[in-house]
Amino acid sequence: MNNRMYSIEHIRADFPILDRQVYGKPLVYLDNGATTQKPRTVVDAITEEYYSVNANVHRGVHFLSQEATRLHEASRERVRTFINAASTNEIIFTRGTTEAINLLASSFGEAFLHEGDEVIVSTMEHHSNIVPWQLLEARKGIKLRVIPITDRGEICMDEYVKLFNEHTRLVSVMHVSNVLGTVNPIREMIRIAHEHDVPFAVDGAQSIPHIAVDVQDLDADFYAFSAHKVYGPTGIGVLYGKEHWLDRMPPYQGGGEMIQTVSFERTTFNELPFKFEAGTPDYIGTTAFARALDYVSALGMEHIAAHEKALTDYALQRLREIPAMRIIGEAEERGAVISFNVGNIHPSDLGTLLDRLGIAVRTGHHCAQPLMHRMGIPGTVRASFALYNTMEEVDALVAAVDRVRKMF
Ligand code: PMP
Repeated sequence: MNNRMYSIEHIRADFPILDRQVYGKPLVYLDNGATTQKPRTVVDAITEEYYSVNANVHRGVHFLSQEATRLHEASRERVRTFINAASTNEIIFTRGTTEAINLLASSFGEAFLHEGDEVIVSTMEHHSNIVPWQLLEARKGIKLRVIPITDRGEICMDEYVKLFNEHTRLVSVMHVSNVLGTVNPIREMIRIAHEHDVPFAVDGAQSIPHIAVDVQDLDADFYAFSAHKVYGPTGIGVLYGKEHWLDRMPPYQGGGEMIQTVSFERTTFNELPFKFEAGTPDYIGTTAFARALDYVSALGMEHIAAHEKALTDYALQRLREIPAMRIIGEAEERGAVISFNVGNIHPSDLGTLLDRLGIAVRTGHHCAQPLMHRMGIPGTVRASFALYNTMEEVDALVAAVDRVRKMF
């Protein structure tokens, strides 16, 4: 498929919600960094499975259970191919990025982190890649080391290199910033960590929807992401982990599915990936997630990326024309997220007024308070684009922002 065939009209027709109005205005949905809208095929997958297949997985001899299990495990295989993992043993289903990182912190922490050990994160991390490690500071006496960033919102690579020492046990950094849009030089950062024999975990929540990710090519040791940010359902996510790490990590939660045998004397655990998946999984969600991955794959990640880059470049250019505009995050390599403030208008006032004009944006600290502190601001307005957004929607955003500016 080439860009000419990237028919935005056809694509938008797949997303019924995009047709609705809010306050009598056409909806302009620019909060895709928070969650994306769902194409019909994803919602259909949910109803189809509930209506025709529903049964608990992995434990039934009956037809429906086997069919549900087949679909669930086929979804794991779909995720594996999407990120090019070496094996389905490396695909752990979780509730989302947050649970994936908590699983990692808890289980990797149990196996490999001891008092005085250090974990490196960056200043721009989402709270979900800060707080799980802080819990380990309290529980195990580890220490967080934080990579500084430049005023433009880029990782200070010189400072990153200096943070490694004999206590460093893990680096955990986001691929794409949910605030600044910065695409971090993750491949180079992983290479540097490995030079120090330190594994590298990637928060991929904001990269998976926009960039083709190959975990083997990146040589990432762990990679976390959420289905709902890539047109899939809520409540499903993935922790990818190299098998040799996951093998040596203890279970995260106990219960059904994750055991081999249980007795009061001795319980043995299931193999990968089931060792990390206690209880009934969201097997309907995984089927719908696989449909979402089929959907974006059919469009082509390279075409999605090209479309979103065109939108972002145009939006940046037009927004900069607005007097008193301050773009937060001017990284060379950037994704489909733009944060900004206008003059002294509080971001939540700006966001509320944009909402009345039909424009859905995010305002506030975006779960990145240390980053807000670093940039010296209370928050931003954030517009984040998806595969279905249009240039006309960018125009609508720009016109609305300028209108609100004139009101103040
Ligand atoms: N990391 C980043 C960079 C994010 O943008 C988000 C979602 N805002 C998360 C982690 C958390 O994802 P979830 O809420 O789906 O667990």
